[in-house]
Amino acid sequence: MHCPFCGANDTRVTDSRLVADGDQVRRRRQCASCQERFTTYETAELIMPRVVKSDGSRETFNESKLRAGMLRALEKRPVSAEAIEAAVERIRQSLRARGDREVNARDIGEAVMKALSNLDQVAYIRFASVYRKFQDLDEFRAEIDRLSQDPGDHPASAHSDPHRGEA
Ligand SMILES: [Zn+2]
Repeated sequence: MHCPFCGANDTRVTDSRLVADGDQVRRRRQCASCQERFTTYETAELIMPRVVKSDGSRETFNESKLRAGMLRALEKRPVSAEAIEAAVERIRQSLRARGDREVNARDIGEAVMKALSNLDQVAYIRFASVYRKFQDLDEFRAEIDRLSQDPGDHPASAHSDPHRGEA
């Protein structure tokens, strides 16, 4: 770390301690060249990918917005605040773990749907009906049917095979 006073690159740490409940490291440094002292703060950089909306515009990832959408779907449902927070945290971590600079809003929506389907089926349907904008009642009914089966057990069974029985 260069000295901010004289630009020398030989500075030494004279003191180091955790601050802000351990989220930050505060270091006292002294320049070996001009002897000036200064302080640096070190925090983990948690960068969320930017969100690419369907119209191509970009926006900053907004955790409150994500949580609000989930809470709206979960209104009056028997799901604890802890379980909701844990789901929000998992979504956040999975988005960050992708390591991409940008993420499609659609992918976030899918992640929310997946989380809600694990938390509460009614909340899932509420969210999915708004999010996916089911084209018609049949599509909505197909989704309900799919949910009434074991999730992930027979992924192809929701669709009948039109070629079945063809000679
Ligand atoms: Zn210096």
